[in-house]
Amino acid sequence: MVFQLTILGTSAAVPTPTRFLSGQVLNMRDQLFLIDCGEGTQSRLTQLGIKKSKINHIFISHLHGDHVFGLVGVLTSMAMQSRKHLLTLYGPTGLQELVETTFRLTYYQSPFPIQCVTVDADQATELIDNESFSVKSFPLKHRIPCVGYVFREKEAERTMKVEKIAEYAIPFTDIKAIKRGADFKNTDHRFPGKGVLIPNSDLTTPPPSPRSFAYCSDTAFDETIVQHIRGVDLLYHETTFLSEMTTHAEMTGHSTALQAGQMAHLADVGQLVTGHYSSRYDELNFILDEAKSVFPNTVLGIDGQTYSVPLVKTPL
Ligand SMILES: [Zn+2]
Ligand SMILES: [Zn+2]
Repeated sequence: MVFQLTILGTSAAVPTPTRFLSGQVLNMRDQLFLIDCGEGTQSRLTQLGIKKSKINHIFISHLHGDHVFGLVGVLTSMAMQSRKHLLTLYGPTGLQELVETTFRLTYYQSPFPIQCVTVDADQATELIDNESFSVKSFPLKHRIPCVGYVFREKEAERTMKVEKIAEYAIPFTDIKAIKRGADFKNTDHRFPGKGVLIPNSDLTTPPPSPRSFAYCSDTAFDETIVQHIRGVDLLYHETTFLSEMTTHAEMTGHSTALQAGQMAHLADVGQLVTGHYSSRYDELNFILDEAKSVFPNTVLGIDGQTYSVPLVKTPL
């Protein structure tokens, strides 16, 4: 039941000798979601031992090259591994054209199906909603159409207290409903407690709390984002600059570390992970210190590192 984020690269605009470009992999209960695909993403996946065949969804925030120039390389290397199953891409207008045009100009045809979902960069949109998880996009404030994504687990079923099955002679056919919260009344005349309603709380224990992750890059500080990421366990928010560059950050559609900390505080998230650092910074501890000054539970996003959200038991 893992829920963990692996950062492939943390550099903004251009790679540095120690930092690759934007790309992250969210592992949600062994389903892998690739978020942004800067140049070098396929190499990073290989270096970090992340199986491309397990990635069925790729989410692109926007079409600046440092977030998307690695995508076609990932697609073609997936094909080299004999992939046959569907891959779905999500991203703002132009993503499908970018992929199709590159394929056409390079005389390439994908041997596996690729579906491209164009994401509305002006309003929040539900992209996936199944019984295990949901993914929503929401607008970010950047120089070109740009979206963030929020991934949420669905609440799991309650856990049956095994000893209660025998104690109340619960038929196998009733267990599914009880795990979903139903009470139980035994109608079997051979059962001494026939007709007595057994409350669900006596039969089950609560499931762990569902976990969540939000991705915000690239964006200027914008309080309208708060409503979309409120209360997530893990927030990745870009920290391109230190606050000495606040005016420049605003002009270029980016955030300072201080602003990322403010966003984490306003949205009441569990933990903040920084990233998308300007290549002017070799030393990142100033970024960390600045974000921590307003949001203490901040960790530095570092290339190749994994950040886990543990399962937390819901109080009885
Ligand atoms: Zn960028
Ligand atoms: Zn950008």
